[in-house]
Amino acid sequence: MTSPASVVLVFLDPAFPNGRLADASQPQLMATDQGATRGDGVFESMLAVGGAVRKLQAHLDRLGGSALAMDLDIPGQEQWRRAIETGVAEYRTQHPATTPAEDEVVVKLIVTRGTEGASSPTCWVQVSPVGAAGRRQRETGIDVILLDRGYDSDAAERAPWLLLGAKTLSYAVNMAALRHAHKQGADDVIFTSSDGRVLEGPTSTVLLAHLETSDDGTGGTRTVRRLVTPQLDSGILAGTSQEALFRAAAAAGWELGYGPLEPHDLLEADAVWLISSIRLLAPVNHIDGKEIGTPAVQKQLTAELNELFARIQ
Ligand code: PLP
Repeated sequence: MTSPASVVLVFLDPAFPNGRLADASQPQLMATDQGATRGDGVFESMLAVGGAVRKLQAHLDRLGGSALAMDLDIPGQEQWRRAIETGVAEYRTQHPATTPAEDEVVVKLIVTRGTEGASSPTCWVQVSPVGAAGRRQRETGIDVILLDRGYDSDAAERAPWLLLGAKTLSYAVNMAALRHAHKQGADDVIFTSSDGRVLEGPTSTVLLAHLETSDDGTGGTRTVRRLVTPQLDSGILAGTSQEALFRAAAAAGWELGYGPLEPHDLLEADAVWLISSIRLLAPVNHIDGKEIGTPAVQKQLTAELNELFARIQ
């Protein structure tokens, strides 16, 4: 659990061009705020390394897209950038990192619709430490179960009010799925659609890799490395990590693919990962109790992708 003492808050406030610092141990929201009463709002979670937020532009763009999907008129990106800078600098002053490996913080951007009848949303930046579980899962890998999300893969297009591709504050279902997995002894979840497609994790994007070895025409062999993710129009959140890693992997010679994927594709893969901005790449060891790939290949591919991902700004 994160104690308020290790959280820095910066509210976006027209009277404070660089954002207004606020005390996380004191009440800061009205009890009637619709973020609290209805989960009505949007958010982003980002990782800052050495004081710099990774993939900041992609996160700001996605926040704008999520807000648009909910008819929320949010402050401009420059205001967010200044508040983020204030929050990260304040955090680093209060909690100087002792080693470069510890110099990572979680930066959240949060927007609520404000109190009933409010003319503008409530917006703030929260800076807090990275949890131990995320760091551990990067190293040890995770066991995952498949859970039906109950929507078919066309629901996002047919019913945009479900906000399936937006990062909204209504994450109670995602958290319930994680608790369900923990009760079964698993670490995480991969959602499937009611028509049998692989979707995403409750807080992550699904990636899989295939190695295809073929004749190179000169008597030798060549191995093609293929990185695949579910197609974006199936009602999933577009992951900024997946997008950035795909660009880096393509430049490093990987072939890329976008679903549709079914559970058997995961079980037949050489490696599967859940990827997100905070946890980074978490290798999947088992899905519904079945081992994925071989440990040696998984380890080698994870190391290669981790190296590519670490270079992304
Ligand atoms: N999908 C969902 C539902 C998420 O909540 C997240 C991140 O929290 C992701 C995917 C991964 O997105 P990103 O890589 O931008 O962190």
